[in-house]
Amino acid sequence: MTLDLTQEFLVQPVDASWLQCNIECQEACPVGTNCRGYLNLAAEGRFEEGYLLAREPNPVAAMCSYVCSAPCERACRRGDIDRPLAIRAMKRFLVEWHEASGIPDVMPAITPREERVAVIGAGPAGLAVARELAVKGYQVTVYDSLPYGGGTLLMGVPAFRLPREAIEMDVRLVERLGVTFVFDTTIGVDLSFEDLQRDYDAIAISAGAMNPVYLDIPGADLDGVLYGVDFMKRANLGQEVEVGQHVVVVGGGYTAMDCARTSLRFGAEHVTIAYRRTRSELVVDEEELGETELEGVHMDFLVSPIELLGDEDGKLKQIRFIRNKLGEPDASGRRSPIPIPGSEFALPCDTIIPAVSQAADLSFLPVESSFEVNRGRIKVDPATYATNVRGVFACGDFVTGPTTMIESAGHGKKAAYAIDRYLDGRTDVTVTPNVKITSSWRHDMPELYDVLPRQHIPMAALPARMPSTDPAVNFTTPVELGYDATAAIAESTRCLMCNYNIWFDPFRCVLCGACADVCPEGVIHMVDVNQLKTEGLLPEIEEAYGWADGAAMILDEERCIRCALCVKRCPFDAITMERFELQEISSDGRLYKESYRDGQLAGTAGVAGGA
Ligand SMILES: Cc1cc2nc3c(=O)[nH]c(=O)nc-3n(C[C@H](O)[C@H](O)[C@H](O)COP(=O)(O)OP(=O)(O)OC[C@H]3O[C@@H](n4cnc5c(N)ncnc54)[C@H](O)[C@@H]3O)c2cc1C
Repeated sequence: MTLDLTQEFLVQPVDASWLQCNIECQEACPVGTNCRGYLNLAAEGRFEEGYLLAREPNPVAAMCSYVCSAPCERACRRGDIDRPLAIRAMKRFLVEWHEASGIPDVMPAITPREERVAVIGAGPAGLAVARELAVKGYQVTVYDSLPYGGGTLLMGVPAFRLPREAIEMDVRLVERLGVTFVFDTTIGVDLSFEDLQRDYDAIAISAGAMNPVYLDIPGADLDGVLYGVDFMKRANLGQEVEVGQHVVVVGGGYTAMDCARTSLRFGAEHVTIAYRRTRSELVVDEEELGETELEGVHMDFLVSPIELLGDEDGKLKQIRFIRNKLGEPDASGRRSPIPIPGSEFALPCDTIIPAVSQAADLSFLPVESSFEVNRGRIKVDPATYATNVRGVFACGDFVTGPTTMIESAGHGKKAAYAIDRYLDGRTDVTVTPNVKITSSWRHDMPELYDVLPRQHIPMAALPARMPSTDPAVNFTTPVELGYDATAAIAESTRCLMCNYNIWFDPFRCVLCGACADVCPEGVIHMVDVNQLKTEGLLPEIEEAYGWADGAAMILDEERCIRCALCVKRCPFDAITMERFELQEISSDGRLYKESYRDGQLAGTAGVAGGA
């Protein structure tokens, strides 16, 4: 590659935003999980430490390890080379390793406080609020209508994808922090909201968005219309579930896939998912879609139901659809479906399961409190998560509408920090991300890490997924089987370790260019110093050498695979590989978090050249 001599390269300070751009997996995780940290530990066979690191920022780590939407994988830089790391499956391996090891989870020392907080809803958001506040010493009570915690993960996500033991593991850990759970208790029915306002210093509402959005087409009241969230709730709570032979599920998200696969397990012969957009706009991950299709679910894209037709007994027998084409992007950023006149067609169907969206149920909020509501959702201040009613906060799907478990948990964590500030009377606290260099390391990457393919995540063979005539058995038979230790080490070895960065020592470098010659990716270049836009960031170097003429080595951090060949090749030891870590420090000193607990802090960060 030849470099354009007129091109300019911006020298960036080593600050939090630089590091955040470097470590994209961590940045993409709503709870800030140090993914490559636990991958690196797993690659060394340090599984328990890997588990602790994965668990530390995440109140729902066990549930996540099975069904997280894994935004980290979409951000993983390895995806630009071949395929991203299987980060979720790696977390599952660590969680299972920890469970099997019998090593008890160590609980933090907590200094109790007097203030009491009520949380409505024990889903991911509620568990996150409860955990963060309990660790800070607050007396937390979580109320939920359901018989157990987990929220939609318990009553929505099917047991063949998420074993109930994983839900229990997360709930149990929050309970061990001293949180009280009150199940089978609906606020607004068994206890009034005003009771909570009287008895608690603050209330966090994390009641989810589990009301189905109803079909608004002729025939929607026919027998044979089952709404997705209600259908999954019945199946998950062990209640009677009846589906016909020809099932059509309408939607393109997790709920739609789960309803389709659950219908198969409850005896449906033909299951079709009808989605109004195309395959590329589906909101599920590749593995989930692949398994759904493999099990025999037929996908019909660019179609919308327009009418349901029944027989003389009021039973559904046919759906009329219209075909769509894609128009301009809508508010969701996805291209909107536009019906094509004259393209109507009908499909035989005895059960339709609409799974298009869900809404929050606000009916338990007292009218007299005058909560501000916008388009069916309670309004909160985005900085403080506070509603307009003093002492009442809200978070998770209840505020955002249906999202994912990890987004809800992230929301819950931030709401907890805001409640802590409110109860402590501190309103002006800021949390500043900071960067530390934790070690200087000439590392040896494992052999062939750069060509090792993503390790296949083992799945049960098709006949083994539905081994019984009893739907309840089929519904709880796991599909994904998880990695063993060999596959886990191989997979984690593929991590490109984006928190390591190459540093050139300008006082040792003689500009021989050997590093550029040896670089297999061609990402190191020698450029004229005048092409560097330093903006005063390299004062020592500018002072020592002047800045009129000369050359400098630059490195494209986006494409560098951290193989360290340049480090080894440099004849003057001018190149090192440093490990950087993010810290969070609050202005009142109460919050101080290292994103990596393994390793000593050493000095502060300097300036790294980089294009
Ligand atoms: C079928 C299905 C499959 C899904 N699959 C995935 C997936 O694979 N991956 C993923 O990331 N996300 C998935 N999701 C989305 C995910 O489950 C939600 O985004 C997440 O659970 C929202 O968390 P939350 O804590 O905000 O609310 P919820 O998990 O919905 O929890 C709210 C809780 O509040 C309780 N509650 C409500 N009102 C009251 C009241 N008045 N009194 C007492 N308790 C009350 C409810 O009983 C519930 O337990 C799926 C959703 C569905 C429906």
